[in-house]
Amino acid sequence: MMESTQNLDGRHALVTGATSGIGLGITQALARAGCRVAFSGLGDDATIASVSQSLLDAGAESAVHVPADLREVDQVEAMVTAAERHHGTVDILVNNAGIQYVSPVQDFPVDRWDAILAVNLSAVFHAIRCALPGMLDAGQGRIINIASAHALRASPFKAAYVAAKHGVAGLTKTVALEVAETGITVNAVAPGYVDTPLVRGQIADTAKARDISEDAVVRDVMLKSQPTRRLVAVEEIASMVAWLCSDGAASVTGTVLPIDGGWTAR
Ligand code: NAD
Repeated sequence: MMESTQNLDGRHALVTGATSGIGLGITQALARAGCRVAFSGLGDDATIASVSQSLLDAGAESAVHVPADLREVDQVEAMVTAAERHHGTVDILVNNAGIQYVSPVQDFPVDRWDAILAVNLSAVFHAIRCALPGMLDAGQGRIINIASAHALRASPFKAAYVAAKHGVAGLTKTVALEVAETGITVNAVAPGYVDTPLVRGQIADTAKARDISEDAVVRDVMLKSQPTRRLVAVEEIASMVAWLCSDGAASVTGTVLPIDGGWTAR
């Protein structure tokens, strides 16, 4: 994994959805940069223990799991409270957790719509409103929301995901304006297709279903919209997040930064 060059010694980072994929990579990068980390994410005890150990191995002074089902408002509130109890004010909040469901809009299951809006958008709002008072008292902070190229472009059959991610872009810009004079920055990162276990599983399944190679799935099915014709690496997202946390990024706020191999250049 790429080494982070940022020095974020002693900062308290809270990352959601850190038990897998992009969130795990981000949390490891922040641990390498010297953060004390609180992380949420679903998983059994062995998974949580292994994530905690990987964060300590990466150099985190302290790593604590703050469990939450992000569909539930009171659990999002409890997650932030638990993180503050362990490590004090949250200096860096990364809203990363997200889920997906694909269906024509007229058939879209209402419970899937509700869950996607709850995890991908409402939980971002609730975590921000809970963590922000501490940041305002401290006069500094970083809020980074992991959106998607789908915060900027639509695709058919992803009504809930696209709606939620566009909402994250709007929420990011609004909060950035509200806190612009306080030393807190608020940004969204908008990845294209990223090489996560989730996406790898989809590649294998699609290769079987279509009887084509995994390379062909990536090239001809998934990356049609991604001009670089390669998946983005988790580390590329993680290093951008670590940079956004640095002092050098103090004037970068209210942005939705694509890391999408040129997708949104079209
Ligand atoms: P992933 O499935 O590997 O990880 C998702 C994480 O969210 C896990 O830790 C999971 O436990 C957590 N989570 C899911 N539902 C939850 C719930 N109800 N309560 C608490 N935690 C919950 O996904 P990923 O590919 O790493 O995606 C992470 C983020 O990046 C998401 O917001 C996703 O929309 C976004 N993203 C991913 C891609 C991609 O190609 N992988 C592209 C663009 C944006």
